[in-house]
Amino acid sequence: MENGAAPTAPAVIVAIDGPSGTGKSSTSKAVAAQLGLSYLDTGAQYRAITWWMVTNGIDTDDPHEIAAAAGKPEIVSGTDPAAPTITVDGTDVAGPIRTQEVTAKVSAVSAVPEVRTRITELQRTIAAGAPLGIVVEGRDIGTTVLPDADLKIFLTASAEARAARRSGELKGADVNVTREALIKRDAADSSRKTSPLAKADDAVEVDTTDLTLEQVIECVVTLVEEKRAEK
Ligand code: C5P
Repeated sequence: MENGAAPTAPAVIVAIDGPSGTGKSSTSKAVAAQLGLSYLDTGAQYRAITWWMVTNGIDTDDPHEIAAAAGKPEIVSGTDPAAPTITVDGTDVAGPIRTQEVTAKVSAVSAVPEVRTRITELQRTIAAGAPLGIVVEGRDIGTTVLPDADLKIFLTASAEARAARRSGELKGADVNVTREALIKRDAADSSRKTSPLAKADDAVEVDTTDLTLEQVIECVVTLVEEKRAEK
């Protein structure tokens, strides 16, 4: 230790995967904030590239057109869990990436291998540059993006619980419509050829159906602290 600098904990890499509506984002942000780690929302990156495709008139039903354009937009993620940001070519797209149009098209865009290669590279660079470590949330983080993560969590919940939570977030959206849309998106994400939504063999599965958000956060914080103590 030089110049009497305070000892720091070794960097810890945490992968949190699972389908939509399991509380991944809220949990990941809170865990990162509590433990002083960076935070990366990889769904926001796939949404951002989808937003760019839609805005630039790319036919999102044509994988060849998507593949040819995949290298064009510059996507930058801010990793402060208290105020995560996302820009495309310098434009703040935090709002526009949450529209129904982007949500309906993101699975098709994110299934294209050229898109995944591009975004996966970005994710690995960001994770490697986080000084104290990072919580990375997504669908394929533990299996593909960061297979050597110190801790892998796979969050699940019943379709009913997931739809109810998402409808709450969408302020009064019809639960049945939300439920059908979630099931459709999860089926597409789970069945694609390139790095589908999947639980890594060494991931800890946490069923959040009957847990409060606080309970899930506490459970994950404890698991991260145990891993840190082992390092
Ligand atoms: O997490 P969120 O619902 O914002 O993710 C949006 C979409 O981005 C997912 O439905 C999926 O198609 C894609 N995605 C992915 N791989 C990740 C994260 C998200 O394919 N690691």
